[in-house]
Amino acid sequence: MGLISIIVPCYNEEESLPIFYDEVKKVSVNLYKKYNVNVEFIFVNDGSKDATLDMLKKLNKEDSSVQFVSFSRNFGKESAIYAGLENSHGDYVAIMDADLQDPPELLEEMYLGIVEENFDCVATRRVTRKGEPPIRSFFARCFYRLINKMSKIEIVDGARDFRLMTRKMVNAILEVKEYNRFSKGIFSWVGFDTKWLEYENRERVAGETKWSFWKLFLYSLDGIVAYTTAPLALASVTGFIFCIIAVIMICVFVIKTLIWGDPVAGYPSMICVILLIGGIQLFCMGILGEYLSKTYLETKKRPIYIVKEKTISGND
Ligand code: UDP
Ligand code: MG
Repeated sequence: MGLISIIVPCYNEEESLPIFYDEVKKVSVNLYKKYNVNVEFIFVNDGSKDATLDMLKKLNKEDSSVQFVSFSRNFGKESAIYAGLENSHGDYVAIMDADLQDPPELLEEMYLGIVEENFDCVATRRVTRKGEPPIRSFFARCFYRLINKMSKIEIVDGARDFRLMTRKMVNAILEVKEYNRFSKGIFSWVGFDTKWLEYENRERVAGETKWSFWKLFLYSLDGIVAYTTAPLALASVTGFIFCIIAVIMICVFVIKTLIWGDPVAGYPSMICVILLIGGIQLFCMGILGEYLSKTYLETKKRPIYIVKEKTISGND
């Protein structure tokens, strides 16, 4: 006997929610029959502007295993995941998207992975990116390669947030209270034994993705800044290399002028050098700024989310 909490971040999901609920409910009934394990749903309404909240209220009335937390505005998926984890009571906790891109039938295999094979976490990764614009897949691949080279923690290519974890691991994640949350990094950072299940990408059942290319790009920068300080080292190394080049060039020009009396002429070469160095300086300052701005936001210690309404008591 145990309890699985399924956390579902929802932002404008009125179209997918009913389909999601029906599908996952089927799986949860099956889980109960087979393994005598209960399932509770914790929907997190992340400031949706459509009828998502009404739908959640309706589900909550009809089914006592459906609970929800509703935010005062849109705080983003990362905050929604955190709120879900904080409000969950289960011995095992799963995170799922509301659009059925995460196959609910995998829940059984995940549960067995934890109970029978003694893993702390069973996570999923997509092995294909079918249905995604090729340019997005290309940049996603580059991002994973880059962040894995630069940071000490491993972030698996194609890893989804869809996973089932033990209470121990969830408590460890809740200890990480940082404001700039990059879940994929946090999951890996807390450690624990993780089993990976692979599946082919699925398309959304309804509605549209909430991620524009630009949003994803900024999110990947967040990930890099949060999990590695390598860019800072890159800035110092570039600065150092340019200093050495400058010293060598000064020596060469001084000697050339002294021996042959041949001062370097050339406005164009000067402009090129000034622009190059200026550009590199601004670039490095930008890198510094990224870290500084994250530190600034972190020191404010603002809450990760604000609840307007919820049906769960306790765990506050
Ligand atoms: N989501 C959220 N807040 C946001 C954006 C998205 O809670 O600001 C939820 C969304 O409702 C969905 C999940 O996060 O359940 C994944 O979003 P989406 O399907 O748009 O992302 P994709 O699958 O395209 O990466
Ligand atoms: Mg999706």
